[in-house]
Amino acid sequence: MSSNSDVTDSQQTLAIFGGQKVKNTPFGTGKRFGDEEVKELIEALEQNTLFYHSGTKVKTFLNDFNHLYGIKHSVAVSSGTAAIHVALGAAGITVGDEVITSPITDQGTLVGILYQNAIPIFADLDSNTYNLDPKSIESRISSRTKAILVVHLAGNACDMDPIMEIARKYGLKVIEDCAQSYLTRYKGRLVGTIGDYGCFSTNDFKHISTGDGGIVTINSGDEQQFRKVHAFADKNYERFGGSVSRDLQLLAPNYRMTELQGAVGIAQLKKLTDICEKRSRYGNLISEGIATLPGIKAHKVEEGNECTYWFYMLRLDEDELNCSREDFSKALAAEGIPNQPGYIPDVVYMQPLFQQRHAYPDSTFPFDITGVTYERGICPNAEAILQTAVRIAVNEFFTEQDIDEIIQAIRKVSMHYAKQAYERTI
Ligand SMILES: *Cc1c(COP(=O)(O)O)cnc(C)c1O
Repeated sequence: MSSNSDVTDSQQTLAIFGGQKVKNTPFGTGKRFGDEEVKELIEALEQNTLFYHSGTKVKTFLNDFNHLYGIKHSVAVSSGTAAIHVALGAAGITVGDEVITSPITDQGTLVGILYQNAIPIFADLDSNTYNLDPKSIESRISSRTKAILVVHLAGNACDMDPIMEIARKYGLKVIEDCAQSYLTRYKGRLVGTIGDYGCFSTNDFKHISTGDGGIVTINSGDEQQFRKVHAFADKNYERFGGSVSRDLQLLAPNYRMTELQGAVGIAQLKKLTDICEKRSRYGNLISEGIATLPGIKAHKVEEGNECTYWFYMLRLDEDELNCSREDFSKALAAEGIPNQPGYIPDVVYMQPLFQQRHAYPDSTFPFDITGVTYERGICPNAEAILQTAVRIAVNEFFTEQDIDEIIQAIRKVSMHYAKQAYERTI
């Protein structure tokens, strides 16, 4: 690493203007799956059944997960989207109910709300943690509100104490979308164990992968609640012990996990703690490294919380910089640091589904129950985040050198475009 005094001119010149780039070696990579997964998969096949209720793999996967999370009950499902739908269904969310959630998320957060014919209502976010602002949640509550669906974005915990207090005050269910937040801690407590239900995804892009899959935690410890969740993921079939009840009282989907996914999950869970520790450390190192740079706002983690960084997202203060977000992003990429301007292109309520209020073809149901509309400007902080953010991958296979070079490159680009520094040179 070079100190300021021995930086040559060509090192200071941005790579995008022909200077020497900061990162000249490839980022660390590695294999996510190995002999451990192979062994579990062979055992699963040798059972001569791949059905979760007959085999042992999904059951073991959940037992291990419960042990890791210190909880009594969880249910395995086919995706993170399914996990959220199942939690909503088990919570009794139904036609015309309102569910308050985040406008910066994967659309998997919203699917289950609409399949229950409930109405998503978007609350605004904190500008630096990118998570739901409890005050904004409270301002969105109506007589139809039944649940708060919090999204712990990018491994960072929502402010759960005030959110749980609001939920208690208004009698609302709390569902935690933890798809991006494995082993994330809020004041020492694991997210996914704080609300009524926690929902996880094991799709191929998350901290751990079973190809596709998901988990729902049931945090009351109540056996009846557990049975409800379990049944809602399995067509409302109640399979407990040796007996099966197939009485169809209410509609529920089939979101079962197979033994093959359970098998891979067992091996993947054993790696989860190390994966999260690495990501946590790397993300925090980036924040420390860029803390004092002009025009840069680090990915904020509240004191006492632990973030496991599914990605790292800083924000630019365009008043302090002499460039657009796109210029910054391109300059950083030219230094050898791949990055994306923003996360999703726009807040989810600007999607055609919400703008045209068409969840189902030729129908405006359930939106027409209340006549809700989704206007630009309803969540100004969230909209601004997506216009000024720069997202950088953080990965457990990265090396210390990779992280160091990410910091060096952000520093180089921000110093170049910093207004004060720029004005001194003209
Ligand atoms: C990935 C993700 C989901 C959906 O998970 P799938 O397994 O892809 O269905 C939901 N919410 C968030 C925040 C996610 O990142």
